[in-house]
Amino acid sequence: MESVMTTSSTLATSVQEQEAQHVLQVYRRTPVVFERGEGVYLLTGDGRRYLDFISGVGVASLGHAHAGLADAIATQARTLLHTSNLFFHPLQAEVATALAARTGLDRAFFCNSGAEAVETCLKFARRYWHTQGATHRTKYVAFTHSFHGRTMGALSVTWDEHYRGPFQPLIPQVVFADPNDISGFDALVDDNTAAIILEPIQGEGGVRPIPAATAAAIEAACARTGALLICDEVQSGSGRTGPFLYSKTLGLTPDLVALGKALGAGVPVGVAMFTNAVAAAAKPGDHGSTYGGNLLACRAVLVFLEALDSPAVAASMAAASARLFAGLNEMRQRVPAIREVRGAGLIAGIDLSFEATPVVAAAFERGLLINRTSSTVVRLLPPYIITPADVDAALPLLEAAIVAGGNS
Ligand code: PLP
Repeated sequence: MESVMTTSSTLATSVQEQEAQHVLQVYRRTPVVFERGEGVYLLTGDGRRYLDFISGVGVASLGHAHAGLADAIATQARTLLHTSNLFFHPLQAEVATALAARTGLDRAFFCNSGAEAVETCLKFARRYWHTQGATHRTKYVAFTHSFHGRTMGALSVTWDEHYRGPFQPLIPQVVFADPNDISGFDALVDDNTAAIILEPIQGEGGVRPIPAATAAAIEAACARTGALLICDEVQSGSGRTGPFLYSKTLGLTPDLVALGKALGAGVPVGVAMFTNAVAAAAKPGDHGSTYGGNLLACRAVLVFLEALDSPAVAASMAAASARLFAGLNEMRQRVPAIREVRGAGLIAGIDLSFEATPVVAAAFERGLLINRTSSTVVRLLPPYIITPADVDAALPLLEAAIVAGGNS
């Protein structure tokens, strides 16, 4: 054991040193090297196990080293992985049909990340109006606290100056509305607006579900002006809250939807879903992606969707979610530093009366992986396979971490 531990910590040090030399330094990583996963656990080479309640920021929806996914990917790799979009392959149509049935939007464009899916939605909102001859309709209405990704278009509709500032100028004609104060909202949406874009639950902005009154105002503004509605469901969608899209819960009827994260269960996948009316504007050559919707990605999505459809998974997700929110709300009674518990299904935000970074570190020390958003919010994005027993294991660790973080 001694020599295994030494080898493993030597590896951890050398990985960190090598990265420091040759990897662009844009991440603040926790100093740990995970070498394996098992369901809801991540493991280091020296055998330390961590209960994973962040799942690679909402990506590892089936947990780690899922046997069905691993087998399907291996079989696919032995058959065919990639042909490009120059040719047909059997899986893209199957995935697109499955997503159309689940989202109610007719057509899919496949790409590789959430930001690309958002980018596609932004582009085709303009493409739609261009085709109508309304070339002045180029404006986007976004929301304060939004996060839509790091590419230039997605960044332009992302609110936080911290992300935007160093990369100015971004695309012009973006205005931001406050989702919690809709008094001025109607004035922002006009006949120059191409689209309104929102996350039905703002994820990076602090796990803030869009209020029902704001959702109603958005629908009314779209009906009044014809502006298209883009729902960015990269974090809130793909069944994380129960229904496939959280926009359905809010009564929204999007024209375009961005998907990513959980959908590929760890394989990079982004999808933009279109209504037929918007899709009709697309012409061959308008857009594209070399990797988008290749056989590897499509196989992973098919495995994910099959798991999501299983009544056992749906029942276990619902039970785990109920236990999670009941437990968090009970914790709020005991821990005065918890100001609010927000979220739905398997996305939760715990808003604290202090900066949440020390809580993340204290949870890590106790073997629980979580993260921080919006400075005071602890975010939980566990894999869809968690059980109520996993929740019972996580909550005492989280509570101890919040108490320790508050004392640090
Ligand atoms: N949209 C939302 C709502 C997100 O939460 C994210 C990532 O956190 C993105 C878009 C960007 O996705 P990606 O990092 O896959 O490009």
